[in-house]
Amino acid sequence: MIEVCPRCSCRLGSPLKSGRLVCANCGWSNDPPPSKRGVTETKRSPVVELLTVCSRIIRRTFVYVVQVIQTKIQDFRSARADAPPTGKRLVEGLSDRLNALEKAIPIASDEPRWLSIEEAFRYLGGDPSDSNSVVTTENGSTTIPFRRFRSLTSVTDFKAFGLDADLARRDAQKPWLRWTIEK
Ligand SMILES: [Zn+2]
Repeated sequence: MIEVCPRCSCRLGSPLKSGRLVCANCGWSNDPPPSKRGVTETKRSPVVELLTVCSRIIRRTFVYVVQVIQTKIQDFRSARADAPPTGKRLVEGLSDRLNALEKAIPIASDEPRWLSIEEAFRYLGGDPSDSNSVVTTENGSTTIPFRRFRSLTSVTDFKAFGLDADLARRDAQKPWLRWTIEK
């Protein structure tokens, strides 16, 4: 049993209840301060435990959220991969419906529409942009290219092709030819 402090040589008092010797002068102790660590541990331990659990929960939640997001992204990708056929089906369905609608609309075939000279030539089966393309009169006696068809002026000439010519409309720069016989 030492009676003098090894650090400051002060006389040590009676030991503590724990048996530990402590110098009242310099604070020397014959024992490392386990009480301090113990107190800290017992004090902090529940907090540390709580923080550990919290961090585990946060980490687990994060992993879960990431997994959910990844799943959603995969679902989205596979949905997108399926999208073209779906879109195609949709377009096809729409196309079918529009075709049905087109057939449902009656064509006003009994009402001749007015044509420009180019349209009239095309209506007779010719191609105005092709100098070799020709059209023939109803009786088949005359065959002419667009160059000559364009220069026809008389109502009778157009009549031979089955067309009605309205010279007043022509002078007014409007489509002025209309078919009298449906082709
Ligand atoms: Zn001392």
